[in-house]
Amino acid sequence: MNRPIRVAVTGPSGAIGYSILFRIAAGDLFGPNQPVELRLLSRDTDQSRLRLKGVMMELADCAFPLLADMSAHTDEKDLFDGAQCVFLIGAQPRKEGMDRADLLRANGEIFRRQGRALNERASRDARILVVGNPCNTNAFIAMRNAPDLAPECFSAMMRLDQNRATARLAEHLGLPVSGIEQVIVWGNHSNSMYPDIRFARYRGKRVDNQLDPQWQNEFIQNVATRGGQIIKARGASSAASAASAALDHMRDWILGSEGRCCTMAVPSDGSYGIPRGLMFGFPCFCPGEGRYQIISNMPLTPEVKAHIDKNRDELLKEAQAVSDLIF
Ligand code: NAD
Repeated sequence: MNRPIRVAVTGPSGAIGYSILFRIAAGDLFGPNQPVELRLLSRDTDQSRLRLKGVMMELADCAFPLLADMSAHTDEKDLFDGAQCVFLIGAQPRKEGMDRADLLRANGEIFRRQGRALNERASRDARILVVGNPCNTNAFIAMRNAPDLAPECFSAMMRLDQNRATARLAEHLGLPVSGIEQVIVWGNHSNSMYPDIRFARYRGKRVDNQLDPQWQNEFIQNVATRGGQIIKARGASSAASAASAALDHMRDWILGSEGRCCTMAVPSDGSYGIPRGLMFGFPCFCPGEGRYQIISNMPLTPEVKAHIDKNRDELLKEAQAVSDLIF
């Protein structure tokens, strides 16, 4: 048996945490031969501690053969000590009267602190995925507060948006989701994101010529507002699908995407006119061993370019609003 991989998770007793932990421990992230050690953030309140205790009792009761160890930590430096794989899920939810700028700042403080703790204690080749919203800017803040870690250690999650777009496209075409590839979502995980299906393929064949233009317009709106539709239907926000997307993102990143293109928000390398370092959703390939490459030569139409620029401007504005929280 391999040595356990150390996985740190914040927000472990939230809705996404409650789904992702059981799947990681069951082997859905690293496969059936790779044990894991879970390190979980316990927030410093009685209610939070008790909730996490309950989650850990359930994890123990699953008797997962791959769960080598688990521990709760109130100190973030302890939490991240030697962590090789990190899910930053916990975030301050929007409270009544808070606008997006207030939310950015409240979360900025959390991700600045966590970036510093990661910088001091995480493994130098840690793969760190930010899920907590606003995830692109939270990841940007964490990265900029961890100068001793390579920027490529950080990414933010746009895979749920890609999965949603892929599922809508498969439904529309009446085809199984498994054969659909090359669906891209550009930009920010916000309502401005731009799902791009111009290059989508089913088993290698392009499908863009089979799409009704009216449906395509609705599709973009539909993907961007899917989270709201789920809240309306379920009375709670997406949790299992977000956890599943986080696993897809991390698995492709660490183990490789087997030639498939996947959307990841990663620090820009200047491609498509996005300023270097901005955490932007790009089409990527993952060759394995924790590496990714931005696919930098997708042709853009003026319309797509306008959407990309809108997302760039939105993220620049967010970065400006938290400029005092970064190096
Ligand atoms: P939840 O409300 O069920 O849980 C939130 C978790 O965050 C809890 O564990 C809570 O203890 C923790 N938390 C709250 N305030 C905190 C603080 N100040 N410091 C540290 N931790 C804190 O929420 P959830 O459904 O699990 O969602 C978690 C985050 O993921 C939210 O920010 C949500 O918007 C985001 N999300 C992102 C995507 C995406 O695609 N990127 C998709 C779905 C949800």
